[in-house]
Amino acid sequence: MIYLRVRACIKCKEYLPIHPSNVQSNFMLKEFEKKHSGHTVVTLELNEVKGEYQNAANKRDPKPASMEA
Ligand SMILES: [Zn+2]
Repeated sequence: MIYLRVRACIKCKEYLPIHPSNVQSNFMLKEFEKKHSGHTVVTLELNEVKGEYQNAANKRDPKPASMEA
């Protein structure tokens, strides 16, 4: 049985699946870490993520608002 790992922000109730071999996923992970820096971000297995968490990959903005100068 394969357990998919996710990075989850406890504060925002968002998570992002980790696909180690996927470049796009690695990029999104970096963005996720940046967006939630200062929050409590933990690594969980997908089956530990409860329904109240949103998949960040499904609600990502066209451009990160924090990057606008
Ligand atoms: Zn957060």
